[in-house]
This record gives sequence, structure tokens and C-alpha cells, in this order.
Amino acid sequence: MKAALVRGVEDLVYGDFPTPSPGKGEMVIKVKACAVCATDVKVYHYGHRLIQFPRITGHELSGEVAGVGEGVTGFVPGERVQVAAAIPCGECYYCLRGVQAMCDDLKAIGYHYNGGFAEYTLLPERILRNACVNRIPENLSFEEAALAEPLACVINGQEISGVGFGDVVVVIGAGPIGCMHTQVARTKGARKVILADIDEARLKMASFTNADRFVNPTKEDLSKAVKEENNNRLADQVMVAAGSGQAQVQALQLAAKRGAINFFGGLPKNQPTVTLDTNLIHYGELKVVGTHGSAPRHNSLALAVLGSGAIKGTDYITKTYGLSEIKEALQFAEKGQGLKVIVKP
Ligand SMILES: [Zn+2]
Ligand SMILES: [Zn+2]
Repeated sequence: MKAALVRGVEDLVYGDFPTPSPGKGEMVIKVKACAVCATDVKVYHYGHRLIQFPRITGHELSGEVAGVGEGVTGFVPGERVQVAAAIPCGECYYCLRGVQAMCDDLKAIGYHYNGGFAEYTLLPERILRNACVNRIPENLSFEEAALAEPLACVINGQEISGVGFGDVVVVIGAGPIGCMHTQVARTKGARKVILADIDEARLKMASFTNADRFVNPTKEDLSKAVKEENNNRLADQVMVAAGSGQAQVQALQLAAKRGAINFFGGLPKNQPTVTLDTNLIHYGELKVVGTHGSAPRHNSLALAVLGSGAIKGTDYITKTYGLSEIKEALQFAEKGQGLKVIVKP
């Protein structure tokens, strides 16, 4: 099979590799679409503490069941499936409490297992045992279904924050994740959503989300804009969908009393410290939470939301590349001039 193998930092080869075949309890899928995540770009440039090279990366994937091993029931070759990227153990304290995203022995596709930048990929037994393979609704393309993975993380984040009916929500960062936060908040009944980004071009790209207000904080006072939209009150929910310490500091100043702030984007590992005015948390009884990934059930929820049309996957797909153009795809994603980039083997 053809695959793109990361042999080491900035050492990526496209070529021929053995096609995997499924052992007992395993499945092989023919990859049809794999979306590029910002972490794929990071892994290419800097590696990752959980990845031992060589590794085929790509974790936002969908495809067709190519073969199943002994003992696998419920799936037959030819079925269209999407795969959750974060694979829980199903047995630890967190898994047993139903918080699989925080599994003590979490494994991930494209990190511990080979991923979707290949014609075929092998899904180990643990993936099937933990309900990480979902059937794709008939009306969704493979490309759209590949977006279920990032959307699942957004759904998890809003669950943790408790975004709900009537909330006024501020989203900082108008990349694909920020756009998904905007639209998920809407589907959960938010009264108003304000989307902010310091990059004017990104704000323009996000216009399809129909946020109530688009704010460039370098040109306009964001907290003033929020108050204008909310009868002089600040926001019930602030989602920080940007890896920026400055945005985290500002987020606290945007939350109304009893509001919630979600640090959804991680900070660079060499600069993870910021100074927060914790009196804002104390006097305002604020809730500060973080979000890192998703559980299998968030993936099936995400597919259902995409299938319902409440969030249209096609709005997010800026560009599609063939697998042999993997380097171009990573480069395009890195420039941030579009939303999602899809690689099709
Ligand atoms: Zn991702
Ligand atoms: Zn576990």
C-alpha cells in the first residue's frame, strides 16, 4: 500500500509499505479521507512525547471496512465507518466512571497506532472493544465524516463547561475549532454567540457560522462588545479556542458572575505559565475548566450532528489533497489560510 511515514522530525517519506491484515479481534479499513489536524503539523516539526518514530500519523479519519479478524462481529467489509482517535482502556478508574477521555492508559491513533495518512490502516482489538468505530450516516461523505473527531472534542468541551439554553457565549479563536464551538453553542440553545479573532482574514472565513457578532479585539474592545450584546452583562461562557496565554488572561475578564471559562487550546510546552487575576474567580464565583480530547460517545454524537445538517461538514473543508501531496497538505494547514484540509489516499 501507499503511505506517508514520518521517520523522524521533519523526515516524512511517501512510498510503498506492507498492507496490514487483521488478526483476531482486529479490523483493517481502507482509508477514504483523513483531515489534517494542527497537531499533525506540530508532530512533523517537533515530534511528540507519545510518538515513537517511525509512525504513520493522521487521526481524523474515515473509510471503508476492508477486512475483519476472527471474532469481530457487527461489521462487514464495505461498510462506511469513522474512527474515534482517542482509545480508552475500558477498565481504569476513569473509564469505569464514564470519563473515557481521561483514561489512565489512553492510546491514540496516529500516536501509539498507525493512522490515516495511508491507503489502509489496522485497528487493534482495543479500538473495537471500546466502541470507537462508528457507522457513517448515509447522507455524509467520507470527507465530512472525518470532521467528527475534532467536533467530538468540541462537544466534550461544551459538556464540561455546561453550555446550555439561553447562554451568551464568547469564543476566542476563529479557526476550525472556534467555528465548531460557535455552531455547537448554537445547537445547544445559546442565545448569543460572539466570535473573536485578532486575524481579520480568519474572521471573514468564519462568517458561515452566523455568529451574532464578529470581533477583532485589536480594533474593538471585546468586553464592551459582549456587554453591548448582553444588556450590559458579560458572558456566561467563554471558550478559549486558541493556544494563547494572553487570550486565557483576557477570558477571565469576559466572564459574567457564575460564568465558565474553558481553556480548550493548550499552551506551548516551553511557556505554559500565565498570571491570572484569581480574585475574578473568587468574587465572581467563576468556573475555570479545560478540555483535552473526547470519549467514544462524543464521536458518535458528532457524526449524528453532522448527519442532521445542524453543522455542515462541507463548510469546513477548504482544500483536498491526494496522499502523495501530503507535504503540501501539511504546509497549507500550517499557513492557517483555510479551515480544514483533507487528505484522500
Ligand atoms: Zn485532531
Ligand atoms: Zn481507562
